[in-house]
Amino acid sequence: MSKLKYRRIMLKLSGESLAGEKGFGINPETVTAICKEIADVADMGLELVLVIGGGNIFRGISSSAKGMERATADYMGMLATILNAMAVQDALEKMGKPTRVLSAIETTELCEPYIRRKGLSHLEKSRIVICAGGTGNPYFTTDTAAALRAMELRCEAIIKATRVDGIYDKDPEKHSDAVRFNRITYKETLDKELKVMDATAITLARENKMPIIVCNILGGNIKKVICGENIGTIVEG
Ligand code: UDP
Repeated sequence: MSKLKYRRIMLKLSGESLAGEKGFGINPETVTAICKEIADVADMGLELVLVIGGGNIFRGISSSAKGMERATADYMGMLATILNAMAVQDALEKMGKPTRVLSAIETTELCEPYIRRKGLSHLEKSRIVICAGGTGNPYFTTDTAAALRAMELRCEAIIKATRVDGIYDKDPEKHSDAVRFNRITYKETLDKELKVMDATAITLARENKMPIIVCNILGGNIKKVICGENIGTIVEG
């Protein structure tokens, strides 16, 4: 265990990462592939908190732009994150990993309500804690929920697992000459408006000196990060 750089981390996955090729909904094969990566790091003794977005099912801001009241649309987005959390829980438990879903929106037939001390206790018992329902408040995002829960549950870093392998000066999926940063400060990401996490999440992380590591979700990258390999981009300082 001593070779691990971190003992407890927050892993933030976007809802879209569960969608596969279609870019919408939940693709069981994709969920299995991602959960395999998560199970591998759990096997190394890492304590894990997951926050999964809901954008593959419902994004509040897009629906409010089409006329729905923002708060209503956001609550629907939060419900979408519970669906994703249940899909991930199911896949992880099929791999023999004990998990608990703790939700900021009470759905007690489905999962436990989010209680910080419960979360800490589950982590101490080596259960993977999946925080669902975002922050429980409209006008926020699951990036912010990830930063908030990372602090509350005493994580040492946030890993933001994405489709790309770090933070670039421009969109690497559109520009072949995009350059990846190895390290960048919170301030630079805010000033340059780089798409890392939203500004509220970055500000929270900055105020609490919580490093954010952006890396590709697949290919054993999460494992590499926790072993201290210099991959992806680290946001700190
Ligand atoms: N949401 C919210 N409050 C929160 C977290 C999420 O209102 O604390 C809603 C919001 O409408 C958002 C949706 O849930 O659009 C899905 O979350 P997000 O867009 O962060 O998911 P991701 O982009 O990571 O898939």
